[in-house]
Amino acid sequence: MDKDLFIEVASLIRKARYCMAFTGAGISVESGIPPFRGENSIWSRYDPHILELDYFRTRPEESWPVVREIFYDFFGKAKPNKAHQVLARMEAAGMLKCVVTQNIDNLHQEAGSKVVYEFHGNAQKLICLGCKDRISAADADFSVMPLRCKKCGGLMKPDFVFFGESIPEKAYADSLEAARKADVCLIMGSTGEVMPAALIPQEARRNGAVVIEINPEDSLFTRDVTHIHLTGKAGEVMAALEPLLFDA
Ligand SMILES: [Zn+2]
Repeated sequence: MDKDLFIEVASLIRKARYCMAFTGAGISVESGIPPFRGENSIWSRYDPHILELDYFRTRPEESWPVVREIFYDFFGKAKPNKAHQVLARMEAAGMLKCVVTQNIDNLHQEAGSKVVYEFHGNAQKLICLGCKDRISAADADFSVMPLRCKKCGGLMKPDFVFFGESIPEKAYADSLEAARKADVCLIMGSTGEVMPAALIPQEARRNGAVVIEINPEDSLFTRDVTHIHLTGKAGEVMAALEPLLFDA
């Protein structure tokens, strides 16, 4: 660990006028959530077809039990880790303006973050494909598959972005606006493979932000978007940064 680099990063964050964080699956891996891509990932075990909107809509009996297994039985047990906690603490201290996340696991909010732009939605909400009513997953009865709307009988879908769906408009607009305002952008646990999410740090960089990447390995951002790369897992790096941010 390069101590001087950590001191420099802490100083950049403390002096920032508008610091934002952009997070991806890597930040939740330390909470026990497997990544979607790569080795031991969700898509190495399950067929991504189940998250294609048309497939889900036409074969809910087949898709819903798998969706339940991945996103509710399993994700439901995950708890925020140090990286989520330090970001929440930074926001509370006025050091961080927002988190743009690609994750749908609600862990930023559980850690206490208030301004979270959910680029891909959130699994904690369900939406009826018929009447568009939204309910909390906590209020849904997952024992009857597929899940149907109590109001109209329509098919319920997790309120996160399926393949073939567009990004929620407001989250997209809010994320772009943050990227345009930011003078420091922290990338954490994102490999930059998923579009259009990967455009957000690019936009920040184009608008003059200093881009700090926290990833265990080089990503698609490293060469052209990142200014400073702190190599390591998000939780470990944030644990090392925390005293430099708060105790100095
Ligand atoms: Zn309905």
